[in-house]
This record gives sequence, C-alpha cells and structure tokens, in this order.
Amino acid sequence: MEQSKQEPVFRIGPIRPPSEANSLLLQVTQGCTWNKCKFCELYQDTKFRAFSADSIKQDIDAIAYYAEKAKPFIHGDGTFDRIGLNRILSSMEPQAQNCFSMVVNWLLGGGQTVFLQDGNTLALQNGRLSDVLSYLKQTFPQITRITSYGRAESLSRISAEEYAELHAAGLTRIHSGFESGSDQVLQLIHKGVTAQQEIQAGKNIKAGGIEFSVYFMPGVGGKALSQENARGMAEVVSEIDPDFVRIRTAAIKPGTQLYEDFLAGHFELCTDDEKVLEIKTLIEQSHCERASIVSDHIINLLPHIMGSLGRDKAVLLGIIEEYLSLPTLDRRLYQLLRRYNAAESVSDLSKLSASERSRLEEICRQTDSDAIWAEQMNSLIARYV
Ligand code: SF4
Repeated sequence: MEQSKQEPVFRIGPIRPPSEANSLLLQVTQGCTWNKCKFCELYQDTKFRAFSADSIKQDIDAIAYYAEKAKPFIHGDGTFDRIGLNRILSSMEPQAQNCFSMVVNWLLGGGQTVFLQDGNTLALQNGRLSDVLSYLKQTFPQITRITSYGRAESLSRISAEEYAELHAAGLTRIHSGFESGSDQVLQLIHKGVTAQQEIQAGKNIKAGGIEFSVYFMPGVGGKALSQENARGMAEVVSEIDPDFVRIRTAAIKPGTQLYEDFLAGHFELCTDDEKVLEIKTLIEQSHCERASIVSDHIINLLPHIMGSLGRDKAVLLGIIEEYLSLPTLDRRLYQLLRRYNAAESVSDLSKLSASERSRLEEICRQTDSDAIWAEQMNSLIARYV
C-alpha cells in the first residue's frame, strides 16, 4: 500500500470474470506463474509476484478506510447521495479516486462478493491465502462469496483437505481456464497441463466443498482439432461435474504465438459454424447432474446458451439448431451483427429494415472463401480480448 497525499491506495489488477462485475477486486498476486499459453498475451510483460500477507492486509485496511468514508452516503434502501460521493471523489488524487470508486461500486452492488486477482491466486502457499481470507472476512463480515482464478496445473497439486481449509477460511468459488480437455489441444496451445490433471484439480476442489467454474474455448484447437477439442472437454466435464462450464470462444489475437502460427500457415482458424458445432458436441456428449453451461461473454456467438447440462440439453440444442438451420447468408449476417454487438439472438435478424439488410448482405457476399470470412470474424472478436 502506498500513500498518495493523505489517502491510502490499494492495488487493483486488470482482469476479472464478467460474473464479478460488482465484486470487490483484491489483488493478492500479480501476473501468471506460467505465462506460456499460445493464445494469451495478458501478462506477457508482467513478472509474477505473490504479495506478502502483510501487504495484502494493508490493502484490506485501505479498502475498509474507503468503505467507512462512503457509508454515510449509501442508504439501506439501495439509494445513495451522488452529490456527496462526487464531492469526496473530486477532492482525491486520481489513484485514490480509482480505489474509492471501486469500493463505492462494490457497496452499491451489495458489498458481499470479492474476487481475488490475478491469474493464479492459488500459488499463494503455506497458509498465506487462508490467513488473508480470514482477515478479509473479519474486516467485512457481510461477505458471502470470495472467488478467484487458479491455473489448472497448480490446482491439481492441492489436496481436497487443503481446499476444505480454504473453504473454511472463506473461499467459495474457483475459476479455471481449462480451454480444452483434449491432451492434443492442450499440447498444441502450450497450456502446460494434462486432461488428467484437470480432472484431479476439479475433483479435489469439489471434494473440498468449493464451487468450480471451468472455461471452454471452442475453436482453440483450430480446424484440425475442432471436434477433438469438444470431445475432450465433454470427457473432462463429465468426470468433474463442475458447477459452471463457461464458454470463451477462441479469438486469436495479433501478438500471440498462436496468431504467428496462423500467419505461418500452421494453424487454421475455425469458422463460427465449426465453433458452434463444438458447443453442440460438448452438450451432447457431457454427462452431468450439477453443471450449468453459461455463455457470458461478448465474444460468444450465441449468448442464450445457458442452462443445465443435465436437464436442459433439449433446450440448449434447440438454440444451436435454430442458428445452424439458417441459410448460409443469414448465418453470416447474424455473425456480423453479433460481432458488432448489434444482435443477441437470431431472431434479431427480423428487426433489420430492408435497406439495412441489403447493405449488410453486400458485406457478407464480398468473399466466397470461408477461411477469409473466418479471419475477418476473428479480427472483430479479437478486439474484445
Ligand atoms: S495460465 Fe491463464 S493467464 Fe497464464 S498464460 Fe495461460 S491463459 Fe494466460
């Protein structure tokens, strides 16, 4: 924690899942312990650091300071004194403003959920994480949910008993970017983990009483391993039966090693249809009772895919069929609209005026090549990651 004039400031990392939009962000580590996944450039320039328990507690104290400052302006009925809060905000230095705004946003969102950053919080060892969790809960007894990211390989080395201890200290949910459950794909993207380690990690987490949210990345195996990617994920998900399977469509971004592979002709991009077919295979082949599939990111083509992988298969597959049964031109049209955040479901196509439709169809007809179209769609979604 550093001092900016009189106001304390605390660290805020760059990334959180969309489901943690209203959560307090507490940075306990910085960067990623691995930093080698071929599709990822998130922490390329960041050296991994695990902060000391004392340093994190100082940040928690700074958060408590801002929470006390904000409290008189936030009322029990959910209303707040915007002018009063703005007056305080305008008296602060920019860094302190960021901290105060985040705490206010958290309190206005209920003040009950926390997300621990960055890419691999579970790298905090020797009881340091439990110590920090206990201090956090002691400082803010109203907290009901504390979640974090963990790298699958690190997670696989933690026992069910250790997870139970973390759960007792307050950790309620772990997110992990599995991306694939196929060893072939995991090797291709240099994920540094095997399907068996993913399964071990998931089983231990669940046995320790912690909720588990895994991420699936349709398209990350490229055209050659497209269905292999989905089949592998279905196997891993069926073994673990996690609480959530979240879809994060592959967006191959310039600057990453996978994009270099694509430019060199060693990696062929999947079309949007192939990525949808991967999701279809995952839904068809996974056998779960607890897991829900969630499509909660702007980069996903079909955001309405959301439901139980056990009970809602027919509904989920219906959403996919609705898209796949569209004529080719309409599928491209929908992809284009979705990539500009102008559509949420295929039914939005009917909202286009005749002139809008004709103009957009012209764009869709500009190439016959599926590969060129896939590249164009990839560059549109790569803006979002
Ligand atoms: S483990 Fe996660 S943060 Fe680290 S390089 Fe891979 S995708 Fe990026």
